[in-house]
Amino acid sequence: AFDYQITPVDLTELNNAELAFHITEHSGYLWMATDRGLVVHDMKKNSWQIFNRDQGLPFDNFMSVAFDGNGNLWLGSNRGPVMIEHDSFTKALNGQANKLNVERFSEVDGLESAQINSGGPSMLQARDGSIWLATSNGVSEVNPKTITEIGNLPPEVNIESVKADGKTVIFGEKLSAETDRIVFEFVAPGYLMAEQIDYQVRLVGFDENWVNKNSLNSAEYTTLPANDYIFQVRARYPGGQWSQPDYFAFRQSAHIWMQAWFWIVASLAVALLALVGVKARLNQHNQTRLRLEKMVKEKTADLETMARQDPLTNLGNRRAFDERLQHELSRCRRDGTYLSLAILDVDYFKDVNDHYLHTVGDKVLVRIAEVLRDEIRDIDYVARWGGEEFAVLITNSELEVAKEASERMRERIAATPFDDLVEDMKITVSIGVASSFHYADHAGLLVAADQALYQAKSAGRNRMESKP
Ligand code: GH3
Ligand code: MG
Ligand code: MG
Repeated sequence: AFDYQITPVDLTELNNAELAFHITEHSGYLWMATDRGLVVHDMKKNSWQIFNRDQGLPFDNFMSVAFDGNGNLWLGSNRGPVMIEHDSFTKALNGQANKLNVERFSEVDGLESAQINSGGPSMLQARDGSIWLATSNGVSEVNPKTITEIGNLPPEVNIESVKADGKTVIFGEKLSAETDRIVFEFVAPGYLMAEQIDYQVRLVGFDENWVNKNSLNSAEYTTLPANDYIFQVRARYPGGQWSQPDYFAFRQSAHIWMQAWFWIVASLAVALLALVGVKARLNQHNQTRLRLEKMVKEKTADLETMARQDPLTNLGNRRAFDERLQHELSRCRRDGTYLSLAILDVDYFKDVNDHYLHTVGDKVLVRIAEVLRDEIRDIDYVARWGGEEFAVLITNSELEVAKEASERMRERIAATPFDDLVEDMKITVSIGVASSFHYADHAGLLVAADQALYQAKSAGRNRMESKP
């Protein structure tokens, strides 16, 4: 008795949807849960649209459609209810966006079962705006208000383990210089959207800024340079606020040769060694210098002796005599005493050289020197004045005393035998004497003694004459 016509709707254009499980009407649209996604029919414009994986849904197969009190769209499925946020699907419908803001719930979030696939309407909006879910394992309820509230509270994040080369590290630990790899594991045990929690980490002392980890809940660093570090991690729900960071402090030690004190100690040691070396060197130099100085002194003394000594007779020479004369004259002036000078000249000495060998002459001179040295007093002084001339300083003596002493010298020499050199050879000397009583200065005394000698020669030789 009824006349009717059934018109199949061809959905092949819309991703080949075949199985439709649930149809509902809302805000002028028809909403169909199918095996190829959510098919939406705009009844006014008579147009069709499909939402599936391409728009960001986690899968395509849905059993039911419902709306909650906040206008969010819910899709029931074998793999948990999927919520599409109101603004998100509205924009997608108007062509203002092609991605949906989607949230999937499962047992992790507190559902009895993720299978929202009962025969009747498996989802229902209650009067208070909450969604009731019929599952294969009992009923669950979601109040959309709690979603927003919890979503705005950042999750709490905890560092669960820290391992350096596989060994657990304790807070504040000093890692050895050989440490290669340090791994941090952390978790934000969120009730909601646990899989979509975002993490950021920052290694203070190494990173300038926070580093995105997305949903990865571990971080690792290899061969960190020596430093004090603080590892920080924070978490958030998608689009939500970042949590307070959890942190972990540790120190990476340096190799011994990388530490400042090592270099300070090493440099000090090197400096000390250098110092010791330099000291030893200086010591050696000092000793060499002292030895050389001593040698120079000895040589100088030798030279000085040589410069004042006659090598043939070993008596003082002319220079030594002059010095001694100066010295004795000033002493006499100081003490108020007198000094006499006798100059002796060998008579006809040229003949000795001429008749005999020159060496005989030398031996004669040596013998005369020996006689004079023996004859004078300890306080007197005899020198070889020139070739065959001798000078004698008779100290503390006036002219008369000196004349007696000179006369004794003359006699001694005249009596000295020279037979061993030349048979029957006689040697005599002539002597001139003067006293500082009359000739108080050096030159005057010498000239006077010399004049007295000349007189002695003139008067026949082998004589002593004096200048009054
Ligand atoms: P007189 O003094 O009596 O007038 O005669 P003299 O022969 O001694 O005179 P003269 O002063 O002319 O001669 C001195 C000689 O002494 C000349 C020189 O050859 C010699 N004579 C000087 N020094 C040395 C010496 O060291 N060794 C030798 N063998 N002879 C010397
Ligand atoms: Mg002479
Ligand atoms: Mg002579």
